[in-house]
Amino acid sequence: MLDFLGDLKRTHMCGELRVSDAGSHVVLMGWVNRRRDLGNLIFLDLRDRTGITQVVITADAAAAHDKAAEVRSEFVVAVIGRVKPRDPGTVNKNIPTGEIEVIAEELRLLNDCKPLPFTPADTTLANEEVRLKYRYVDLRRPELQRNIQLRHRVAIAIREYLNGQGFYEIETPFMTRSTPEGARDYLVPSRVYPGEFYALPQSPQLFKQILMISGFDKYFQIVRCFRDEDLRADRQPEFTQIDLEMSFPRPETVFRVVEGFLQAAFSCIGVKLEAPFPLMAYDDAIRLYGIDKPDLRLPPLTEVSAAFAPENLQALALNASLPVVTVRIPTVGELSRKERDDLRQLYPAKLAQQGIKVLDDSKRLEKSFPEAMAKVREMSGAQGDDYIVLVASGTASFGDGGEGQKPQAGALRDGAGASGNRPRLSMRERQVYEGAGQVRLALAQKFAERHKLWQRKGVAGDFRFLWVTDFPMFEWDETEGRWNAAHHPFTSPHEEDMDKLESDPGAVRALAYDVVLNGMELGSGSIRIHRQDIQAKIFKALGMSPEEQQARFGFFLEALQYGTPPHGGIALGLDRIVMILAGAESLREVIPFPKTAKAVDLMVDAPTPVSERQLQELGIAVKKAATTG
Ligand code: ASP
Repeated sequence: MLDFLGDLKRTHMCGELRVSDAGSHVVLMGWVNRRRDLGNLIFLDLRDRTGITQVVITADAAAAHDKAAEVRSEFVVAVIGRVKPRDPGTVNKNIPTGEIEVIAEELRLLNDCKPLPFTPADTTLANEEVRLKYRYVDLRRPELQRNIQLRHRVAIAIREYLNGQGFYEIETPFMTRSTPEGARDYLVPSRVYPGEFYALPQSPQLFKQILMISGFDKYFQIVRCFRDEDLRADRQPEFTQIDLEMSFPRPETVFRVVEGFLQAAFSCIGVKLEAPFPLMAYDDAIRLYGIDKPDLRLPPLTEVSAAFAPENLQALALNASLPVVTVRIPTVGELSRKERDDLRQLYPAKLAQQGIKVLDDSKRLEKSFPEAMAKVREMSGAQGDDYIVLVASGTASFGDGGEGQKPQAGALRDGAGASGNRPRLSMRERQVYEGAGQVRLALAQKFAERHKLWQRKGVAGDFRFLWVTDFPMFEWDETEGRWNAAHHPFTSPHEEDMDKLESDPGAVRALAYDVVLNGMELGSGSIRIHRQDIQAKIFKALGMSPEEQQARFGFFLEALQYGTPPHGGIALGLDRIVMILAGAESLREVIPFPKTAKAVDLMVDAPTPVSERQLQELGIAVKKAATTG
């Protein structure tokens, strides 16, 4: 028989009772995490969002004892009782309430619970699909309760920081038109205008720029974005951004704001981040890390071609005009021939196709080229048990890749302006560095247990932030045979590179920047184009006809002409930030109701077909669904 709540009021939270509460009369409400029935004595572990308290029901409290016999896991109950210090022998130091228990006087069964496929008290995790189907039960688990609470605190900390800096949080529409972030749109059919569609925003990009034109010179929003991208693990079709925009900024103005709110966010886990974060130009990131989101916890690459005499390179069939790059992974120790062979499976197959060689037999290299290898070790700072491989271009294909730029020592600058006017890397040089970067990450992953550089030590150094700046403005699209905007088409080119827009688009740098943490891109942004004439030039460089410009962005091009201030901004992924702060393995651990890697919500079972009537109202006929993988 279930009881009603009546006028019973909760007086305390389960997880907050302490010895100092001993003697208090309390009313607790929550879920039965576990029940142990010792006959005369029944123990209930009562759980709410703050934690667990042990409730003791003795045979003396006869009515409560009878009811407790019926109770099962996840029943919802109210306990009226008194707090008592536990006997010394039964104190549990592992939980905050481990020094007390509550002696029940009355028990009310507020609801029962059908047998569950898993319970929050289980020590082994259920299969993720089952967890997502029963997400409401999964969310009761202490880990997820903690993650969701952390998410709340982080969002509040960021809001408070930005509010303190004079930012307004301003909402922008979800039902809008296509935005240019490069993914597919989620579309919403209009009933009133059959055959017409709203698009869900991939980001509030154009609206936030319009807000600058409207004079709200510091905008932010913690906002949902929707992108119908190719399905991949750890991508969510809807995700949350901390989106911001400012008028009259230099990139550094944006950097300082972001550093400030990240400091506020990280203080939620007691980590004090040092700012400003270092800056690194894109080309330097490629030279030193082979990737545009460097993980600074691992040693950089070293360009070591100078260590080799021309005849050495010839003997190794390596292209002398391209970089020879050392990848060094610390404290891996000796590897057997077989281990080295197995490692090759980890390197991207693309490398071989690109004619990029991975020389991993350092013993043999040392035998054949002792002097060169001694230099390699010296240049790359290798210690005795570090694992070293060389990555370089073979001579066989691709000819020579143009004059190679040597890597820059000290490319990581402390808060100073990034960039410089060195020639950009040639495509072939980039391939070599990027190949080395991929090998570096594959090896680091494989030997994480040995190098231990990814283990958190509970200090600010666990979190290596940097700003990557001076991205290329355009990317060449092989399949389409044209230039695409590397960030988005509203990003301003470098003032110095304006004259190359038509003559040499590949060499144009953008005033675009990413904030990177431990090899992950947390956010990207840019200084925007605020002049209509430059915007039109960029569209032209992107191969967009005036008609297409009008059709896609006409309203925006018009708005740009009515007094647009210089402006810029950025957006960071909140889900990823919380995932890192929580030390969670997946975004799904920090999103209350996530979708699977196949974009399905298993709890509500979406997407689903809709009724014929709904389709008719929308003027939509569905072709026989193409099957997707
Ligand atoms: N709208 C961009 C994005 O979502 C960020 C920005 O440029 O502010 O990636």
